Amino acid sequence: MEIRYDLTKNPKAKPADESQLGFGKIFTDHMFIMDYETGKGWHDARIVPFGDISLSPAAMCLHYGQEIFEGLKAYRTKDGNIQMFRPDENFKRMNVSAERMVIPQIDEKFCEKALEELIKIEKDWVPHSEGSSLYIRPFIFACDPFVGVRPSDKYMFMIILSPSGAYYSTGLNPVKIYVEQKYVRAVRGGTGFAKTAANYAISLAGQDEAHKQDYEQVLWLDGVEQKYIEEVGAMNIFFVIDNEIITPSLLTGSVLPGITRKSAIEVCKSKGYKVTERKISIDEIAEAYNAGKIQEIFGTGTAAVISPVGHLKWGDMIMTINNNEIGEISQMLYDTLTGIQFGKLPDEFGWVFPVK
Ligand SMILES: *Cc1c(COP(=O)(O)O)cnc(C)c1O
Repeated sequence: MEIRYDLTKNPKAKPADESQLGFGKIFTDHMFIMDYETGKGWHDARIVPFGDISLSPAAMCLHYGQEIFEGLKAYRTKDGNIQMFRPDENFKRMNVSAERMVIPQIDEKFCEKALEELIKIEKDWVPHSEGSSLYIRPFIFACDPFVGVRPSDKYMFMIILSPSGAYYSTGLNPVKIYVEQKYVRAVRGGTGFAKTAANYAISLAGQDEAHKQDYEQVLWLDGVEQKYIEEVGAMNIFFVIDNEIITPSLLTGSVLPGITRKSAIEVCKSKGYKVTERKISIDEIAEAYNAGKIQEIFGTGTAAVISPVGHLKWGDMIMTINNNEIGEISQMLYDTLTGIQFGKLPDEFGWVFPVK
């Protein structure tokens, strides 16, 4: 498929002060779109000026939530080049999400190429300051104008880009996490492993409650027994107990298979750490905490890369982890992963995709 180009004659001014970028508020001059229709497949791939789209009020995504998305970043290296981190994994995961949500499969290689073309056009939007990056949001939604429950016959695939500031403007900071005991995020047989809007919609009530109690994020327990630890909703979670790194297994299907999670496991194993993926209950964490065995807890995700956990609240129990300081493994992972992403460290694992 050929990509059609319709480039803007009125590019926007780039943000003058990169320290004010924040996250997800500013968008670049162009976006990528392609359409799908049953019988016709994906067609009309185009790079067009960023702007509003028109949609029927009956578009199915607005009523029944048939939508999937991805999130990744492009980084500027110190010699001014631009590179992405494992974009092949994102498009592969997008097809896994698509299958679960009965959305048509995409051609992963074509989407990688379309993304690369879009970034080439928007290369001046990739920020320069330390720790900043260009956030990439591919997504697909159902747009058949039909108010009835069935998979849609029409979809739009889009990629939008947003320059974002360094996640930790004052260095790696431990976060406060609250164990959710009332609501659940995903259930056995549900959509937990898919990157779909629905998983976020149902997580808002718990997130809201955590914020009211002055906690930043929610740690979700399994939806069946509310006993086993799953993840933090936009991050996967790791525990360091007795020098062993433990993270919840993906086999339950209710945890999102994070690419940062997968990369962190590979880095830890390559450095000789013992890493175990298994079921781990919140009771086991509390016991290990009381026995003084928890060395570190950290989250992994594209946005923050590594988020050390300083406080964990479970009912009345408030656990202070590693003195609310950044642990050795958290720091090592942060330095290694951001080092590879920004081209400061050699790409030993073959994770970097240069945008040429
Ligand atoms: C995207 C996401 C993550 C993190 O995945 P990465 O690929 O590491 O960015 C974790 N949990 C959920 C629910 C997510 O949507």
